[in-house]
Amino acid sequence: MAQIIDGKAISAQIKEELKDRVSQMKAEGREVTLAVIQVGSDPASTVYVGNKKKACGYVGIRSLSYELPEETTEEKLLGLIEELNGRTDVNGILVQLPLPKHISEDKVIGAICPEKDVDGFHPQSVGKLCIGQPGFVSCTPAGIIQLLKRSGIEIAGKECVVVGRSNIVGKPMALLLLRENGTVTVAHSKTEDLKSICRRADILVAAVGRPKMITREYVKEGAAVIDVGIHRMENNKLCGDVDYEDVAPVCSAITPVPGGVGPMTIAMLMNNCVESVELQAK
Ligand code: NDP
Repeated sequence: MAQIIDGKAISAQIKEELKDRVSQMKAEGREVTLAVIQVGSDPASTVYVGNKKKACGYVGIRSLSYELPEETTEEKLLGLIEELNGRTDVNGILVQLPLPKHISEDKVIGAICPEKDVDGFHPQSVGKLCIGQPGFVSCTPAGIIQLLKRSGIEIAGKECVVVGRSNIVGKPMALLLLRENGTVTVAHSKTEDLKSICRRADILVAAVGRPKMITREYVKEGAAVIDVGIHRMENNKLCGDVDYEDVAPVCSAITPVPGGVGPMTIAMLMNNCVESVELQAK
């Protein structure tokens, strides 16, 4: 029977640890502050932003909210980021994506001071991850490393296959597994014979964005399977990129959807906010 990796419980544990750290910092006269910027009123973004602010409140992080109208100009947004970059009482800056089409996401991400880039999307953060220097790491893949470690799944020396090469999940995931001494293969839509490559994996990470694509034909018996995908099905239930019912009987460990990778993303954002205070103090 596969071990079900409980992301809800692990993220709750991380938030408790952070809560203790934040109250310790407060006792030393240090406060953690995250500025959250949302442009427009996309309903999904509003839910994500609300969840992030709620988590801040729970952990004891002060959150500053900037809700800008859809028609906000790029110049105005860049001006706000510049102002927040310069404020010593702001530790982290988060711009909720996606942005309206008339604003360049690359420009906006690049404008955030790397010491406040708690999403880990700035090219300098990505570069530091690549060359093994300390810096912010994209929250979803950082959360997956925590899931593996806290579930007692060994990464060093193992065959790791990441399906997907996006800048926010697949690529940083591959770099993090490499940093943990995994032997890493990155597969994508042009990969030939994907099934046999996936079947090599001791740790298989699916970040494909295709509902239930990964069936047991892609999975080596006894592998650990991490499902990043999240999709709403016609019956309104959620599913991942992995066909859970098909794969669970053949693997040694698996993340469910919901309740696997999802809850880890916000926990790691909170972690990055706390780390930002330490980083800025240096
Ligand atoms: P993207 O769409 O940016 O990337 C998908 C990747 O999968 C691409 O690299 C693409 O290859 C590859 N791919 C697509 N189809 C195939 C295929 N048939 N065979 C092999 N590879 C394929 O998605 P994201 O990385 O942003 O997200 C992936 C999933 O994770 C989504 O379901 C998303 O909703 C979810 N997600 C969940 C989060 C969470 O907190 N749980 C956070 C972020 C994302 P190519 O590069 O060649 O096009």
